[in-house]
Amino acid sequence: MEKERQKTVDTQEKKGYYKGMSPLIRCKKCKEPFIPEEMIGKCPNCGEGYNLYEETIQQEDSETPSSINWDVLPPKVEVWLEFISGKRAGEVVKINKSRFIIGRTDGDLIIDDPHVSKKHAAIEIWSRDQMFIKDLESKNGTFLNNILVTRTKLKDGDIIKIGTSLMKFHVKLL
Ligand SMILES: [Zn+2]
Repeated sequence: MEKERQKTVDTQEKKGYYKGMSPLIRCKKCKEPFIPEEMIGKCPNCGEGYNLYEETIQQEDSETPSSINWDVLPPKVEVWLEFISGKRAGEVVKINKSRFIIGRTDGDLIIDDPHVSKKHAAIEIWSRDQMFIKDLESKNGTFLNNILVTRTKLKDGDIIKIGTSLMKFHVKLL
């Protein structure tokens, strides 16, 4: 855990997280967006505390189940990505397996963008209510709702940023 935390800090520093290049985060209480100056701090609008360590590593300790068939989706669920920016805006990509890789050259969804790593991130659909985004040690990181993530739970409506592409994650339970 400590090692992961240090890695998160190193990654954040490498990305200039403290130097104004940081993405916005949204206050959980007042919902106002702001740029965090530190990993732990307070919302400048309402004073509510935030902790980016919790946001970035919150799902690190959940074990990946070994019983999943990664080539198919769990039953009674439809999952898809919708590009909401860039030249592919409006394009819809169906996620048709439990482990769906996004990358520049390798994977189930290829994004031709120099800011995307060869194998950048994976979307894992474990069950109808357990879905994750996992960064595959990409160079420029994977963002969920503007927060840098390593492995974090996904829900319908979440915004994923990979390279310069913004994608909305959609889930429909059948
Ligand atoms: Zn606030």
